[in-house]
Amino acid sequence: MPQGLFLPRKKPGRAPARGYQGGSLKRRPRCGDGVAALDRAGPFPDDGDMRLSFLGTGTSHGIPVVGCDCAVCRSPDPRNRRLRASVLVESATTKLLVDTPPDFRQQALRAGLRRVDGVLLTHTHADHFLGLDDLRVFTGETGPRLSIYGSVDSVADLGRVFPYALAEDCPWAGVPRFVARPIAPFEEVNVGDLEWQAVPVRHGYMTVFGFIFNRQVAYVTDCSEVTPDTCALLRGVPVLVLDALRRRPHPTHLTLAGALDVAGQVGAKLTLFTHLCHEMDHEQTEAELPANVRLAFDGMQVEVRNGELTVTGNPFGTAGCL
Ligand SMILES: [Zn+2]
Ligand SMILES: [Zn+2]
Ligand SMILES: [Zn+2]
Repeated sequence: MPQGLFLPRKKPGRAPARGYQGGSLKRRPRCGDGVAALDRAGPFPDDGDMRLSFLGTGTSHGIPVVGCDCAVCRSPDPRNRRLRASVLVESATTKLLVDTPPDFRQQALRAGLRRVDGVLLTHTHADHFLGLDDLRVFTGETGPRLSIYGSVDSVADLGRVFPYALAEDCPWAGVPRFVARPIAPFEEVNVGDLEWQAVPVRHGYMTVFGFIFNRQVAYVTDCSEVTPDTCALLRGVPVLVLDALRRRPHPTHLTLAGALDVAGQVGAKLTLFTHLCHEMDHEQTEAELPANVRLAFDGMQVEVRNGELTVTGNPFGTAGCL
């Protein structure tokens, strides 16, 4: 299993990446392991280098599910403890969040997040959207507003749910200060030194966005179908992050088999499944997967440095310590 997590490096002589390397757990992880993992990698010296950090990899309930006594919800394996799906994408100068779940505050604390340069919304289902208010710590009372990027529909929901955050003359203190940035399907955007493109995918009855960053990493959560035009753009991207909710069919999400089918069509060097429900035990499920397909976990990081891919990071969650 470990060799699947660490892809071949082009340049010899580098120290192997530290952190969790898959396989059985050598010790019980402690609270704060994940924070150390996110701090440890440091800044990026080279153009085009980037890192994607999983802040949450769970479906809308989060894992454990409230009131559930199933084996995964009671599992001591920290990789089975999943906050709602979100990632942090970083380059030398820029930090972008994709989605702000209701868990955002907790995710930001355990990741040691100190700055955000923009938020990209895949869509506005509650598990991806309702943590936005907690971004007020990054917007202040004056200065530039924080850009929130999303589809026309997502931006409309932003104005409907958080109107005070967009108001120029909000009478209250201590509110977030956002600026809405509507994005068209397939639009390419630069924020700092990160280039990204919004790619539409089907999510049951609606169309939502996935995002491709620097042509290196694609993040496609909440997806029931990848249409041919988007699939064509995903081909050639080395890392694909993809929805794989569970084995049983679901009207708005890919099953494990469906996600494996999409992964095969895209042909990424590394595919990581996310938005996982409590029917997906990490170790059992990974044992069924091809070598270049893995389950993401909260705290996992994917780095691209000089064109080389590395997966590292320690799982955040431990029993009794989310
Ligand atoms: Zn979701
Ligand atoms: Zn459960
Ligand atoms: Zn959704």
